[in-house]
Amino acid sequence: MSLSSSSGTPQQGQPPTAGLLLSMLNAADTALMALDADGLIILFNHAAEKLLAYRADELCGQALPSVLLEPDLLEQERAQLAARLGRAVDAVEVFTAEVQPGRSLTREWPLRGKDGRLHTVNLSITAMVEPGAAGGYMVVMQDVTEFKRLQQLMTRQHALFANGPMVAFACHVQQPRVVVEVSPNVASILGYFPEDILLEPDWWLQHLHPDELAGLADGGWRLGQERGFTCRRYRFWHGAGHWCWLEEQVQQVAGDVVQGYWMDVSNQVEGEDRLAKIAANTPGMIYQFWSAPQGQGRFSYVSDGVLTIFGVTPAQVKQDADLVWRRVFADDQQRVREESESALRYQLPWISEFRVLLPDGRLIWVEARATPELQDDQSVRWHGLISEITQRKRTEEALRESQERLDMAMRAANIGLWDWHVALGRLDFNQQLVNMVGYDYHELHDNPGQWQALVHPDDLATVRHNIRALLKREANQYQIQYRLLRRSGEVLWILDKGQATEVDGNGNVCRIVGTVQDITTHKQAQKLLENSEAHFRMLFQNHGAVMILVDPASGVIVDANPSAERFYGYRRGELVGMPMSNINQMEEARIRGTMGVALQQAHNHFTFTHRLANGQLRTVDVHSSPVESGGRTLLFSIIHDITARRQAEEALSTLQRQLLTIIENFHGAMLLEDHNGEVVLVNQQYCQLFLPGYTPEQLQYLGRVQVAAMAARQFADPQRLLQRLEELQRSREVVLGEEWPLVDGRILERDHVPIFIEGRLRSVLWVYRDISSRKLQEESLRLLATTDALTGIANRRSFMEKLEDEFVRFQRFSNPVAVLMLDIDHFKQVNDSWGHAVGDRVLRDFAHICQQVVRKVDVLGRLGGEEFAVLLPGCGMAGALALAERLRQAVRAHRVALDAGELQVRVSIGVSCFARDQQEASVALALADQALYEAKLAGRDQVRAFDGNGQRFTAA
Ligand code: GH3
Ligand code: MG
Ligand code: MG
Repeated sequence: MSLSSSSGTPQQGQPPTAGLLLSMLNAADTALMALDADGLIILFNHAAEKLLAYRADELCGQALPSVLLEPDLLEQERAQLAARLGRAVDAVEVFTAEVQPGRSLTREWPLRGKDGRLHTVNLSITAMVEPGAAGGYMVVMQDVTEFKRLQQLMTRQHALFANGPMVAFACHVQQPRVVVEVSPNVASILGYFPEDILLEPDWWLQHLHPDELAGLADGGWRLGQERGFTCRRYRFWHGAGHWCWLEEQVQQVAGDVVQGYWMDVSNQVEGEDRLAKIAANTPGMIYQFWSAPQGQGRFSYVSDGVLTIFGVTPAQVKQDADLVWRRVFADDQQRVREESESALRYQLPWISEFRVLLPDGRLIWVEARATPELQDDQSVRWHGLISEITQRKRTEEALRESQERLDMAMRAANIGLWDWHVALGRLDFNQQLVNMVGYDYHELHDNPGQWQALVHPDDLATVRHNIRALLKREANQYQIQYRLLRRSGEVLWILDKGQATEVDGNGNVCRIVGTVQDITTHKQAQKLLENSEAHFRMLFQNHGAVMILVDPASGVIVDANPSAERFYGYRRGELVGMPMSNINQMEEARIRGTMGVALQQAHNHFTFTHRLANGQLRTVDVHSSPVESGGRTLLFSIIHDITARRQAEEALSTLQRQLLTIIENFHGAMLLEDHNGEVVLVNQQYCQLFLPGYTPEQLQYLGRVQVAAMAARQFADPQRLLQRLEELQRSREVVLGEEWPLVDGRILERDHVPIFIEGRLRSVLWVYRDISSRKLQEESLRLLATTDALTGIANRRSFMEKLEDEFVRFQRFSNPVAVLMLDIDHFKQVNDSWGHAVGDRVLRDFAHICQQVVRKVDVLGRLGGEEFAVLLPGCGMAGALALAERLRQAVRAHRVALDAGELQVRVSIGVSCFARDQQEASVALALADQALYEAKLAGRDQVRAFDGNGQRFTAA
């Protein structure tokens, strides 16, 4: 700015009056001073007064440096100036001594204002040289304090941010949308160059996502908080051409400046999005907690579930992680803290159950699971899930309580209990039972076999029969009365109710529990009653089960109950007196036989076919036992209709047989293993393929590992096979069509199909198919596609592919590669005079000769018609030329024997090679073709060469 250049000066040509000049200076918003020739202040405008807090009259006549500079600095500057000028310098001269007449000198100075504040001020001092005037200086002052500070800040930050993920920027409060400073790493992080950003005031707005405009466009939010950072996330157009998520943190620093950071958090947002989706579908809360090495921490992510688990919102928790901690029930806090600390120490998952006191006063149980992940900076990131388990806890509690109640009831009722773990071979019982039989607990517990000795010998068969029925799963429970022998020798009648309580995955019963009640007195009373016919009749009449009484002597029904009438469709009058053979479909003699067996009590359980009145046949289970009645022994039978069950069983076995047939006739080898890895089923083909000499039956129930180890011998790489089997066993994924070569060269294709039913792995199916012939076919198709049918050498496409491959290799390793183009001379004449068939023969012979001359690594191809080419990897021009010459001579020397004499052909050959600056593989081929053309021109039966750069090449 220059006062004198203003074209609007009122009195042009005339010097302004001092008063006018002063008021003009005062009106300027630039701080100005004038010094006289001695350097004393003669003028100090309003802006300068404002800047340095001095009044003009306080300074006029003063030496500028002595007033405004710190004494130390003044001394130091004076000494330096004296050294530069080679003379003594007065303090007053410090600002002005080096000002050249007619020039201005600008330098930054720290000036202390009257109010004590230190300003960094740019002093621009001009020496006034007015002819005839006393001279003096004009000083323009520009306060750059804030600017300097920011500049320093930015420089520091630029250094700080250069390699970091955050971009630093600054803007003004009045124009929050205009970026006035930005760290250079913006180029690598956001894909824009700082210059572009600073030169375009609307840059930020232009790149903001349209959806964000409403919320952010006024930019006012940037000033949201007086102290501390305001943080926002918004979508922004990345210089690389996609939307990204920016996290912006801003802070209003001194005065009008807003300082901020941008970070591209797209990945994080994406991750959180995914997490939120998972979280929405997971009961409980998912979180990520970050804990610093010093112990404090914060939630970097927490799902909405935190509201149900801890009664606080995700936003609250993110602000103050302690809110969650304070909700942990006081009695559990110590334990939870210890558990998490030890998880942290050993880097193990943290699993903890504790109570949470919700704001509404409810106490809930939760289970927390979290995995710590140690970060490079020793902080730890926890990935966790907390779910409510109040219900489970209650059930557990209730179960425990009911268990205790049951124990108490048993003690009170004197009920004995036994518990047999079939699989573990362990028998356990309660004290009541031990007391009943009068033994010591350990005597019984330590000798499980002892138990059998306690059963009365006459009852042992019945007991065994019933237990066996449970084990075979013919029944789920039994209720029998039998005698036990007490230690003292007394006989004890008991009522034993046994029940299969656990069945393993194979359907085998693995646990039976029974209750035992002492019914000795009851039994004694019953004995008295037993003779009473009336008692029996009542039971017989009212029982829901079908019951008949048969006289084994005559084989005739003596009595039948109403259930029997209903079942057979005969009235009682018809049934009584009816021979059993009317109903039982077995031969008379055999019926008698079974009755005999039943009478002897050797066996009392049979399966028969019974005919009903309407002619229907039913399969029935019959329990028969002898009863004494009126002095004779009758057979008392209870009949169960099991037709439906039988039909189901038959359908099942038919299905099974069908499956077996399918498997047996399946075109391929098949093995089915159960979830324990035991072989359930293999077909004949499996044995033939992998284990000749074995039958499918022999492999059944062997472990898959054992079978695999034997079968592996047939595979080309047994080690890899076994390794793969292990992998598949772990992953349990369906893998179809994996190829496995065998030692004999055949190739198998294998499917691995784990079979899950109701979410549980039941079995795994392995299927192998021999695909050798398909592979062969594929191979021959490949050959067809890559070779020339007439000559059997590479066809044009395959030759070009190899040329490309070789070119890529050449570009990487620079090994020399040469190319030959061959064209049979006057071949048309051969066709014309001998016919096409002879022409074909010549072509075949030609290919054959060439094949014999070239090396194994060379590629000979027929490019079309009678044009051939040879690719010579690792061969330079000289070698290629020599080879071409040998080829030419070999062709010349060959005689094609024909019925009508002999035929000879010649060949012209062009040679070239790859070169550094060739862009494409085909360039070398084109050069070779050009050389071939020259050979033809030169009279044929010749070799010509161009090197890779198109220079004619001749053998040395
Ligand atoms: P030169 O190359 O020396 O200039 O003479 P040329 O007679 O060999 O010329 P040109 O390349 O024009 O002739 C190629 C002939 O090859 C033309 C075509 O009839 C014949 N030809 C192309 N493919 C076959 C083929 O598969 N079998 C037979 N028998 N002849 C073919
Ligand atoms: Mg030709
Ligand atoms: Mg030719």
